[in-house]
Amino acid sequence: MLYEKIEAMLESQFEETVANRRYLHQHPELSFQEKNTKKFIKDKLLSYGYTSIKEEVGGGGILATLDSGEPGPVLGFRADFDGLAVQEETNLSFQSTQAGVMHACGHDAHTAGLLSLAKAMMPLRKEMCGKIIFIFQHAEEEPPGGAKSIVESGLLDELDAVYGWHVQGDDPYNGKIYTHKGYAMAAADAFSIKIQGKGGHGASPHTSIDPAVIGAYLIQQLQTLVSRRKDPIDPAVLTVATFKAGEGAHNVISDQATISGTVRTLDPKVQDMMEQGIKDLTEHVCKAHQATGEVVYERGYPSVYNDPEETALVEQLFKEKFGQNMVSELPVIMGGEDFAYYLKKKSGTFFFVSGGTLEQEELFPHHHGKFSLDERSMLTGAKAFALLINHYLVTKVGESV
Ligand SMILES: [Zn+2]
Ligand SMILES: [Zn+2]
Repeated sequence: MLYEKIEAMLESQFEETVANRRYLHQHPELSFQEKNTKKFIKDKLLSYGYTSIKEEVGGGGILATLDSGEPGPVLGFRADFDGLAVQEETNLSFQSTQAGVMHACGHDAHTAGLLSLAKAMMPLRKEMCGKIIFIFQHAEEEPPGGAKSIVESGLLDELDAVYGWHVQGDDPYNGKIYTHKGYAMAAADAFSIKIQGKGGHGASPHTSIDPAVIGAYLIQQLQTLVSRRKDPIDPAVLTVATFKAGEGAHNVISDQATISGTVRTLDPKVQDMMEQGIKDLTEHVCKAHQATGEVVYERGYPSVYNDPEETALVEQLFKEKFGQNMVSELPVIMGGEDFAYYLKKKSGTFFFVSGGTLEQEELFPHHHGKFSLDERSMLTGAKAFALLINHYLVTKVGESV
């Protein structure tokens, strides 16, 4: 069986996978600035024997293609490789050497795990059909992200399906994967509103148009988009994070107020409604009070939609191999992830791999300076991908060898 051969390779390479991850962890780079990381990945791929390597795809991605030479499906596996502007506080022996920059989301593990799979598959390519494209992606953490431009390059058009995994540091490592069919992660948008009133003396409101009162009223109205406008079974969050009016004088009515916040949605129809609703309410509330309002609505990453069939397949393959209780359904996450762009174009699924570690005194969340992970998650993620290779890319030729 091809799977057993891949698994044996992954396990025999585990020490090297850990070393690669620790090197990346020590040398994190911010989104869109991953120069050394890209060189590291490329050099590794060359050393494994890859000749079809495309660099700077979509402004920074690396695509490595493994072609069996036999017709068959084309699968894509993605790992992101950027770090975050976080000061590391783990005291690990291999902690970041870059002040204020840290792999605090686990992208170092995603990349080392995928490199290990790429290495394992090179000598096994004659036992498969079709092709694999290993997608090493820059800038997941910083919109507009790397995924959108990689997809727009057209170099993934031949993919039949695409898969990705994210380490889940919130639970101690237990070898499990976590899945969710359908909308799994939210679209994360930002909005800002400027209310133009008319300034004046605090004692003479009738000669002014007070933007603070209008803003306070508008904030209340905005919440009705969630509570009254959308279907209660469709999730959505609208949070006003800032509201500013005036410069500090207690007796001055300012002429302007600003509001900013975030909108999280799953269904694109709800997302459209929220954007239009914010614009309509701003216009009409302001007009009703003789002010004018201006809205800037910025769309972040779209929501992650996991193909139900592909997700069920990953669940089934993983359960058959590792046990029925080794896959759990994860609730929807209202955070964002630019893997969404691949899934807008191709079928596939994005799943989570348990990866918290109790080496620290407690489990710290992703993006925290004390975030840490269990390196065995890299093996689990790579094995899940290997099961998909074994499912889709096993040739009759390979089986007769
Ligand atoms: Zn992150
Ligand atoms: Zn991440």
